[in-house]
Amino acid sequence: MPQSPDTHTRFRRAAAPLLGGDTIEEYRRAVGRGVDRVARHLEGVQAPFSGAQPEQLEAAVAEVDLDRPLRSLDGALDEIQRLYLDDAVFFHHPRYLAHLNCPVAIPALLAEAILAPVNSSLDTFDQSGGATLIERRLVDWTAERLGLPAQTADGVFTSGGTQSNLQALHLARDEALARAGTVAKMQPLRIFVSEAGHFSVVKSARLLGLGEDAVTAIPTDDGKRMRVDALGEALRGSVARGERPMAIVATAGTTDFGSIDPLPEIAALAHEHGAWLHVDAAYGCGLLVSGRRRALLDGIERADSVTVDFHKSFFQPISSSAVLVRDGATLRHVTHHADYLNPQASLTPNQVDKSLQTTRRFDALKLWLTLRMMGAERIGELFDHVCDTADAAFQLLDADDRFEVPVRPTLSTLVFRCTDTGGDDLDRANRRARQALMTSGDAVVAATKVGGEQFLKFTLLNPATTLEDIAAVIELIADHAATTERQAA
Ligand SMILES: *Cc1c(COP(=O)(O)O)cnc(C)c1O
Repeated sequence: MPQSPDTHTRFRRAAAPLLGGDTIEEYRRAVGRGVDRVARHLEGVQAPFSGAQPEQLEAAVAEVDLDRPLRSLDGALDEIQRLYLDDAVFFHHPRYLAHLNCPVAIPALLAEAILAPVNSSLDTFDQSGGATLIERRLVDWTAERLGLPAQTADGVFTSGGTQSNLQALHLARDEALARAGTVAKMQPLRIFVSEAGHFSVVKSARLLGLGEDAVTAIPTDDGKRMRVDALGEALRGSVARGERPMAIVATAGTTDFGSIDPLPEIAALAHEHGAWLHVDAAYGCGLLVSGRRRALLDGIERADSVTVDFHKSFFQPISSSAVLVRDGATLRHVTHHADYLNPQASLTPNQVDKSLQTTRRFDALKLWLTLRMMGAERIGELFDHVCDTADAAFQLLDADDRFEVPVRPTLSTLVFRCTDTGGDDLDRANRRARQALMTSGDAVVAATKVGGEQFLKFTLLNPATTLEDIAAVIELIADHAATTERQAA
């Protein structure tokens, strides 16, 4: 039955919230109002966190009846203000000192506002047009900064360092198998990473069907860098047991200490043993644009693959990350030709051939606009600045006999603990100090273990954080650590 004009009009009205040629005003109004709401909230933010506990937030979220829409823009914004904005954790606040989260570059937010409504999908050229070419230029730019050979290097944007590490190790595994003779194919494959490396390496081994036992943790020196002598010994032991060293993962910027493994020496060992060299520079990639610290990455140009997280040290919004490879041909290990998407004979540039994902966001646009509007040098200056702040904070804490600092920072993290705890157990006092800070909302700091003992951690990725901010937070920590529960009660 043909639709009556009346049904058609009603359908169009119901569809109004979908973006299209005749809903532009609605789009402009909704997004504009949302931007205003966030801007107004940010103006009033006094602390990195409200201190809300999960139980409090849980009840409010559970109460919402998802089957009864509000049908009002302001109503929806009010609700999301209450459920989310009021108790969000704000990374732009100078006293957010916890994890590898950065304040975000405004050009990248502009990019988010452009890429979301257009909604390109980077799997194929026929779903993205020029977006695919923009991503490819940024992959080439990154490969060039890394010093990978221009003729062969390639890569793809990913959701984050975890996915980049997984993909790199997947390529390493398939390359090892492709190169192996029949006998070698039976040998157990082994991955070597320092004990300060990222847990996603072990997780990748599990996902790849190699098992956690396939990963050997190599001890670190007193700067938390992989010990090359220990790596050499582990490699020789592995070969002697009839195993195959499949990959060595060097970390350029460990999550806790910012330490950088000795890349040239590790590259030499990888070469000697025919192992794939993956460099996890999820955090340290900011050095690629640093004016004063680029040399810390020397040797990275010898990697077979590299992980970079622009959403950590390039001040990009989540997600923005990439995996780069020395030889683009190795990306064939993730290629599958689907008749409907990227048929075998197709000559169009289809990024799906290189990615673990199919439908994929145009995250590359954020880095593009950041480079075009701010420039790489400015990003590097900001990263250098936070590294300087970390070193100044180290001097401060190291000179303070209430605190212990095990390692001088290489990048922008600082691990420490308070030892002046009024006779209370050190682990308990430091845990308490962190929790008390979080609950007060005055500052947010992270925690980690060193040699099985409780330490605290500053991750300084905010150029707005001053040494005065850090000094103030240190005093708060000292107070909380020295106030036992009994005294506080
Ligand atoms: C953060 C981090 C990762 C994981 O990256 P995500 O983007 O969080 O998935 C991997 N390696 C290192 C060294 C990291 O610091």
